[in-house]
Amino acid sequence: MTKAAPQHTPMSQFPIIDNELHIGGMPLSRLAARVGQTPFYAYDRQVISRRVAELRSTLPDDIHLHYAIKANSMPVVVQHLSGLTDGLDVASLGEMKIALDTGIPAEKISFAGPGKNDTELSAAIAAGVIINMESEGEMERIARLSDKLGITPNVAVRINPDFELKTSGMKMSGGPKPFGIDAERVPRVLGRIGELNLNFKGFHIFSGSQNLRPEALIEAQTKTFELASRMAEHAPSPISWLNIGGGFGIPYFPGEQPLDLEPVAGNLEQLLERYRPEMPNVEIVIELGRYLVGEAGIYVCSVIDIKRSRDEVFVVTNGGLHHHLAASGNFGQVIRKNYPVCLGNRVEDENLACVNIVGPLCTPLDILAHRMELPVIAIGDLIVVYQSGAYGLRASPQDFLSHPATIEVLV
Ligand SMILES: *Cc1c(COP(=O)(O)O)cnc(C)c1O
Repeated sequence: MTKAAPQHTPMSQFPIIDNELHIGGMPLSRLAARVGQTPFYAYDRQVISRRVAELRSTLPDDIHLHYAIKANSMPVVVQHLSGLTDGLDVASLGEMKIALDTGIPAEKISFAGPGKNDTELSAAIAAGVIINMESEGEMERIARLSDKLGITPNVAVRINPDFELKTSGMKMSGGPKPFGIDAERVPRVLGRIGELNLNFKGFHIFSGSQNLRPEALIEAQTKTFELASRMAEHAPSPISWLNIGGGFGIPYFPGEQPLDLEPVAGNLEQLLERYRPEMPNVEIVIELGRYLVGEAGIYVCSVIDIKRSRDEVFVVTNGGLHHHLAASGNFGQVIRKNYPVCLGNRVEDENLACVNIVGPLCTPLDILAHRMELPVIAIGDLIVVYQSGAYGLRASPQDFLSHPATIEVLV
């Protein structure tokens, strides 16, 4: 017998009724018929709304909540979140367009990312979004381009902090990084801002991503406020905007527990109490991507073939890494672990077997589940990958091997 990999705790964001997963109030097989094809991604607007409501009720009232749309930039998802959050964070001209199309005011959009070219910068200046400046060179180009346009641009300084968010899934700060301006250079940059025609708003300090440990987030947030306060002393004008990053993670792998928000919110409350006197009118922003949308999405594919090879069973589906790189374990993971998976049309069947679920691509990387205990599977069954609402389709090489494209629905 093949030994199964560790199992996940059951997922609870979507109800199971009559042995079938329901999403958007509909049985999965009916949704598949409605969509008209597999594979597909489905995102549940109610699950997204519920997540934002929970966050709002836990975080201090005067924390502004932004959605970082690179997590899932499907336009209707962004539209939905634009009505629930206080702003959107974008990282390309394409994302800026999606954000502006929602109709929110440009000052509620901030634009980060290294390597913004002159076209992107001019568009951002013309739109009036806040540009998070990632280098001194970028600052000089913004000043030149805005002179040419006759517009004073809204800018913030993205600081590469002198600390990192510990035990993060993806490290984006501390040490040498392409993101932001090193903290030790920022005072000089602030001096230069005073000489240029820029509408200086404040700072963007993002120290990491996918963190499930409240202690690590608390430490990073405390250091972020301390750094912002220190840097504000060098600013040409009082800051009015401070983006303290995010980094709230969601559980993907066996043994991972959901983030406990209470201590994080409690610490933010204390930080606000301490720093409010010196930052009385500062808009304090937290920017979250996957935490808002990750758990609200599933990826669904159909079983094409079932084969035995030596002592293992391979369930072959029509979906795989070309649509969902992260679930295959090839999007930044060091050790491959299974995303939570279920048999969507017979979730709770009691007769189990240990199987591998693979995609149709001619590469051994195309794995959706390695040695997982699942109900006995038949051809045509629907395989569901949970936690797929963020970094799914948009983070996948869809053209690799020229299989048909997948589609996304918001239900
Ligand atoms: C990617 C990114 C985010 C979102 O990260 P999540 O892990 O999805 O929350 C937020 N801010 C910045 C600057 C980013 O680059």
